[in-house]
Formats: sequence, structure tokens, C-alpha cells
Amino acid sequence: MVPKKIASLIGNLYPNAHKSCTFPKFIMIFSTITVINMYMDMKRIIAIVEAKGSSMPKIDRSAFLYLDPDPNIKDFAQCGSCFMFMSGKQRCSIFGKNDKVIANASCGLYVYGKPYDDQLIRDAVTPKEAGYVEHKVRCENCSWFNKPNKCGLFESLNDKMSDVFKLDEKVEARACCNGWQSKK
Ligand code: SF4
Ligand code: SF4
Repeated sequence: MVPKKIASLIGNLYPNAHKSCTFPKFIMIFSTITVINMYMDMKRIIAIVEAKGSSMPKIDRSAFLYLDPDPNIKDFAQCGSCFMFMSGKQRCSIFGKNDKVIANASCGLYVYGKPYDDQLIRDAVTPKEAGYVEHKVRCENCSWFNKPNKCGLFESLNDKMSDVFKLDEKVEARACCNGWQSKK
């Protein structure tokens, strides 16, 4: 479910965001995509938060789609452990029929579950809209990760923009978020 403060920001940025959606099953997905797009334009968010002043709650790490590893498995947050993955066909059930998807990839719409091939190809979003990437997205592989369990990005944002962010800096090695960056 989209957190209230994010829904409120969506309302500010995209007042008509869901009005034309006639596919209720994917309302949550479209909301999530809106959130991803929204947070890619962080300057805009900060401007809105500043304009709202102290009446606006601070942004927490759900804004980055932070996911604790639940369950704590080696391939958490990868397509190989997402129930929308069709492993035998190398496809994702919400992408198009020609969009190849591999087990070691990921996207912002990940949901833990057992992949299965007998699914419809819904062509609901493009890989780009979903933030599809082909790398290992967990904190343990991120350049911001400070062992054993600190996120340098969240720490830095809290430090430099304490009026905007209040991010829990303690993270799990197998967690993931949209701020992930390669170590190379
Ligand atoms: S692309 Fe996203 S939704 Fe599709 S299988 Fe991979 S993680 Fe799941
Ligand atoms: S260490 Fe990287 S992936 Fe993990 S929460 Fe921080 S920025 Fe996100």
C-alpha cells in the first residue's frame, strides 16, 4: 500500500494520477510507478516539502522503496524470487511479450513469491517504467553500504537535509532500495 505521506505528495504532483485507471488490479502498481517517477525528480519533491514548511512530515525511507529482506534469502529482490517472474520463458507477467527478463535482474515492482510460467503476459508497464535493472540490487552490493548495517546515503541525507529527511540509517545486508549504486 502507498504510504499516506507519499499519497499526499502524489496528489500534489499528479492530481489526476489515477482518474483514468480502469484496471483496479493494477492501481497499486501504477501508484508505485508514480512514486518511482516522482522520486527520480528529487529536487521537485524538496521544493514542495520546503513550500509546505513544518506542516509536512519528513520523508522516510519508504520514499526510496526500501525493502527489508523478508524472507532473508540470497536472491531477495531479484526476479528469480518474484512471483511475477516466468523463469522458463524469461519473461515478467506485467511486461510485454518481447521483453526478456533474467533471474538476476530486478525492478521497483518486485514482490516476493515463487515464480511460475503459467501466467498471462499483461503488458501493463514497460521495463523502463518499472525501473528494470540487470544487477544485484541488495545493500550488500551497494557502494553506500557500510558494514555491518549502515546506509551511507541515508546518513548523508539526514545530515545535509535534516529539515526534509528522517531516514532510518540501519539497513540489512540483503535489503534493497532505489538509491542503490554500483561499487565500481
Ligand atoms: S521485472 Fe520486476 S516484477 Fe518482473 S519479475 Fe522482475 S522484479 Fe518481478
Ligand atoms: S545501502 Fe544502498 S541499497 Fe541499501 S538502503 Fe542504502 S542506498 Fe539503498
